[in-house]
Amino acid sequence: MGCMLCVETSRGERALAQLESASISASVLEDVQDPWLQEHGIHLRMLRLDRIHPQISGNKWFKLKYNLRAAQAAGEDTLLSFGGAWSNHLLALAEAGRLGDLRTIGVVRGEESQAPSPVLQRCADAGMVLHHVPRGDYRRKHEAAFISQLRDRFGHFYLIPEGGSNLDGVRGCADIVPLLGLDDRPVTVALACGTAATLAGMLLALPESATALGISVLRGEDTLSPQVAQCLQALGQTKPCPWQIETRFHCGGYARRTAQLLDFIEGFELRTGIPLEPVYTGKLMLALYRLIEEGRWPPGSELIAIHTGGLFPRECQKLA
Ligand SMILES: *Cc1c(COP(=O)(O)O)cnc(C)c1O
Repeated sequence: MGCMLCVETSRGERALAQLESASISASVLEDVQDPWLQEHGIHLRMLRLDRIHPQISGNKWFKLKYNLRAAQAAGEDTLLSFGGAWSNHLLALAEAGRLGDLRTIGVVRGEESQAPSPVLQRCADAGMVLHHVPRGDYRRKHEAAFISQLRDRFGHFYLIPEGGSNLDGVRGCADIVPLLGLDDRPVTVALACGTAATLAGMLLALPESATALGISVLRGEDTLSPQVAQCLQALGQTKPCPWQIETRFHCGGYARRTAQLLDFIEGFELRTGIPLEPVYTGKLMLALYRLIEEGRWPPGSELIAIHTGGLFPRECQKLA
């Protein structure tokens, strides 16, 4: 923030400002070149948020950026957050902390295993302090008593909830929308949803001519839509564009995969040269192709898929 009396901006603040401008220049909107799409008369483009940074990729940067600013404004130099052993969010936080000269603490769900996941290994390499807690304790992550135990142990910290999905995280995702360069022509904007905070954030800024489509990666009934509605209300968005969450494409549930999903990803990558991963973006694209096959959109329709990143431990995902 432009304060004339401020002595100087720190190295860390400069690094994060650079990352912020990189997130704008590196996120290209590209045509998905697939003969199959041409046959169906669909113009599909993809916003490549995976290009922002190898570790702080995709939507996680947008969820972090106002949280980082709030922490800096509050004079906090330690950030603490929560996640599982494969958390893209913890990895993004660890790496942002390294760049921004901030201390980071990751509270990890489940006991420490002998061989850390490649994601946690990378977090540790970036300087994140990892604190493993049993699953039962992890569930208490919203309780004041649990947080105060963490403060006893680690001192002062700025708390970012799991996935970065607080209101600052949601607000940050509104900043994805200008990268789409939308005019007032109808377009469907589709993205994968875990907490649906990214979808909610984009709904703050999408024009009325757009339609937003979230693809849930979770099994079971749709608990995300009410949360999105609540979040929009909390942030004063009374007239979002039409939106919907599809729940048919979870492929067995969170981080589950089917042979059909893996085949689809392989074929898509071969035809288009665009890498996907099986937890989020693979399910998103599988869903879009199924919906196109079902005739959801008439020929001539414009679609944009958001590539939310998450490609980091690719080789491991292929083995798992
Ligand atoms: C976290 C994540 C998502 C889900 O974002 P939500 O805001 O929780 O819906 C989607 N894609 C990737 C690659 C992610 O890492």
